[in-house]
Amino acid sequence: MTRRQPGTQGARTEGARPGEGTSDAGTARPELAAGPDETTWQHVLDLIERADEVALACHVSPDGDALGSMLAVGATLRAMGKHVVASFGDREFAVPRLLGFLPGQDLLVPPAAFPAEPDLMITFDSSTLDRLGLLAANASKAREVVVIDHHRSNAGFGTVSLIDPSAAATAVLAEELIYRLGGSLDRDIATGLYAGLATDTGSFRHSSTTPAVHEMAARLVATGLKTDEIARELWDRSPFGYLKVLAAALERAQLEEGLVWTYVSHADRAAYGLPYDEVEGMIDVVRRADEAEVAVVLKQDDLGAWQVSTRSKGAVDVGAICTALGGGGHHNAAGYTSHEDVEQTMARFRELLRMG
Ligand code: 5GP
Ligand code: MN
Repeated sequence: MTRRQPGTQGARTEGARPGEGTSDAGTARPELAAGPDETTWQHVLDLIERADEVALACHVSPDGDALGSMLAVGATLRAMGKHVVASFGDREFAVPRLLGFLPGQDLLVPPAAFPAEPDLMITFDSSTLDRLGLLAANASKAREVVVIDHHRSNAGFGTVSLIDPSAAATAVLAEELIYRLGGSLDRDIATGLYAGLATDTGSFRHSSTTPAVHEMAARLVATGLKTDEIARELWDRSPFGYLKVLAAALERAQLEEGLVWTYVSHADRAAYGLPYDEVEGMIDVVRRADEAEVAVVLKQDDLGAWQVSTRSKGAVDVGAICTALGGGGHHNAAGYTSHEDVEQTMARFRELLRMG
């Protein structure tokens, strides 16, 4: 039994995040930025209560936080008797191979089967309307759109915002929503939330890994998760071709004044039949370079556009740079899409980096 019992040991003071306020007195806690207020939470619960059907969407090329949070909430809503559909707006709709282990995927429908004008739509981990891809049109026509997210750059593109930039992952807000809906954690729901928490904290390495994050992880793991298996699925598997494509990208990596960068073209991947999502995490290798404060990997998608992943070690706000370039993200991890070629894309990025 891992559900926190309101009013008992797990009770929270008003506005506290899950895991806060649960330990013995005397533990100093940093003040966190305020999350959604009680009125907003209540409004969301009312909207869900009144809805027969709830349409869930997360950002394109979903990561563990986007898809995991969405499927966890989806399972809870279904258990409440709601009709639930869930999707993401990629033109080529397919769950990335490394997220194939996430339970509850029978909720997923391709974007074409998503309600055109949902009464109630909930978005996960999407910082802008654009990030919904094809489903941006559905969100524009929805009667109510609840935006659940933790990106600081999220201006709130829906009718209701459950946005908390201090949350390490959208999964943190998803967990709170599940409890507030009266749901509890089973192993399947916990797996989705854990995928989100582990993904966005860089496997509990980033500075966002607070005591509350570990407390949440403890609640999730207590459901009987196989954390070793999840870690392997998320980070330690690739087709053989990835090694070759990685080698080519690393071979042409460049180091210039605190910046390390490289690119992976569509042709690189095609030579080994490697789908786009297999190279999504390459930035985690490139950012190792000690000499660089900022790392960039340009990944050409199947439509020819460059998806740019950027990382900072702290001194540079890559989130601000990527937002200026039409994307978004966090201070130390952000991205955007470029329709220019590699040289032009990098020239523009360097210019903003220099100005910063
Ligand atoms: P990644 O490099 O792992 O794809 O993304 C790092 C962070 O930047 C994530 O928080 C992701 O949501 C955000 N991000 C990546 N690409 C884009 C983009 O094209 N637009 C926006 N708004 N955010 C992005
Ligand atoms: Mn996230």
